[in-house]
Amino acid sequence: MSKENTQQPPAGRAGLFQEIISHCKEYGFIFPSSEIYDGLGAVYDYGPYGIELKNNIQQYWWKAMVQLHENIVGLDAAIFMHPKTWKASGHVDAFNDPLIDNKDSKKRYRADVLIEEAMAKIEEKTEKEVAKAEKKFGESFDKGMFLKTNPNVLRNTEKLQAIENRFKKALEGNDLADLKQIIIDLEIACPVSGSRNWTDVRQFNLMFATEVGSVADEANTIYLRPETAQGIFVNFLNVLNTSRQRIPFGIAQIGKAFRNEIVARQFIFRTREFEQMEMQFFVRPGTEMQWYEQWKETRWKWHRSLGFAEESLKLYDHLKLAHYANAAVDIQFKFPFGFKEVEGIHSRTDFDLKSHQELSGKKLQYFDTELNQSYVPYVVETSIGLNRTFLAVMCNGYRIEKLEDGSERTVLALPPFLAPVQIAVFPLMKKDGLAEKAREVFDLLKWDYKCFYEEKDNIGKRYRRQDAIGTPFCITIDHDTLNDNTVTIRDRDTMKQERISIERLKEVVNEKVDWKKGLR
Ligand code: ATP
Repeated sequence: MSKENTQQPPAGRAGLFQEIISHCKEYGFIFPSSEIYDGLGAVYDYGPYGIELKNNIQQYWWKAMVQLHENIVGLDAAIFMHPKTWKASGHVDAFNDPLIDNKDSKKRYRADVLIEEAMAKIEEKTEKEVAKAEKKFGESFDKGMFLKTNPNVLRNTEKLQAIENRFKKALEGNDLADLKQIIIDLEIACPVSGSRNWTDVRQFNLMFATEVGSVADEANTIYLRPETAQGIFVNFLNVLNTSRQRIPFGIAQIGKAFRNEIVARQFIFRTREFEQMEMQFFVRPGTEMQWYEQWKETRWKWHRSLGFAEESLKLYDHLKLAHYANAAVDIQFKFPFGFKEVEGIHSRTDFDLKSHQELSGKKLQYFDTELNQSYVPYVVETSIGLNRTFLAVMCNGYRIEKLEDGSERTVLALPPFLAPVQIAVFPLMKKDGLAEKAREVFDLLKWDYKCFYEEKDNIGKRYRRQDAIGTPFCITIDHDTLNDNTVTIRDRDTMKQERISIERLKEVVNEKVDWKKGLR
């Protein structure tokens, strides 16, 4: 059966995000944590297909960052670190978010996020104007000219610029009173109560503290790491002395991080426990901006290789730089709830190594033989959330297609190299030796691919289930297989079926599940 060209665009339908969340649960990707006790807010567990997809994304990142770069090595530091780490990194004093409460709904919000969302709404107005004009003028539409001349667009741009300037100043100056005033001036209302009855803005530290050992006193306070990066910085010398690396070189790490987010929401987009994939690239001082640009480009390409369209991605320069950065940009993905950060690329200067050097009293320097000089290296960081990437991949792949016969199918068009199952193996029926033959094929393929075997239900239903979890290939063993050793192989996206010999299976599948194509 072929499909009509009536795919729903990924972000084009109301309720789409809820559908994706339900899909994740129904097909064993993500479950609410401790669900039998009614769940724990904003905490999630990854089910059988979820863990496969998450592992595949993680491995893909590792291959792209470590395996493909001779000057990047890996590390796995512990979650618990010496408490001084967080003093040196600035997290004890400055890892705060501005919070604000609505007095009527008693709901808590991040003041900066409320303002950003209001700004995004103004931006949306411009996008709508552009789309309208594009439709009206067709081929002759000159977007650049339109943006420069349309009075509505100009008004919006001016308004946005004014808010942006004021917002930036308030953030930089830590002016909590003006943050509140911006919320009032923009007439931002609480989405729950609808009222504008706000408390003052306060700072809130995001680190989780706990105690080590059996005696609870202040000296034993220890933090759950809020980022994986510090494990890399404190191991800088250990890695340098053991890895034969010279500057410029990078250290990559994947692991859990914890932040007591003021508002954890939007499913796995913002949770209090999450996983980061980070790489700190150590460079000669003065060369950091050049590396910053290079990593921006490399990481953009990686996102594109996940099948994200150019229009689904955006670079967003930070308005307020973190205490450690001299340049920072986010790579944003167009989620059903708008463009949001998936990855941050930061030029962290020598802030972290220098602070650790001062507080620990240990020299964290590099002797550059070309310059015949020692220095504290500068750092360019790429930091991406594994869970957010997972969500972006799900949102990008999820679609409902209308078929020619009027029925619908749900497809998860995942990049084949990320699919939780790469090949599903089905005997057309259980009897006549087809099941035994299918098991033989399964046993042949399971060494190289994640395979799934099923003999229950009619073949159409089995195909649909695999479409819904994103399996790129289904192989069916029928009576002809017993005679000529051929099978049908069905492509998830085109639904076309081809008859090929079992010997050719690997060749056909390999071509499609190859992870290297998008990165070369
Ligand atoms: P945000 O502005 O969304 O709070 P951030 O700028 O604080 O994010 P970074 O400190 O740059 O985030 O962390 C790097 C990456 O870690 C982010 O791009 C994101 O993908 C991920 N991340 C950060 N906080 C969370 C969270 N609470 N839940 C899930 N992922 C997160």
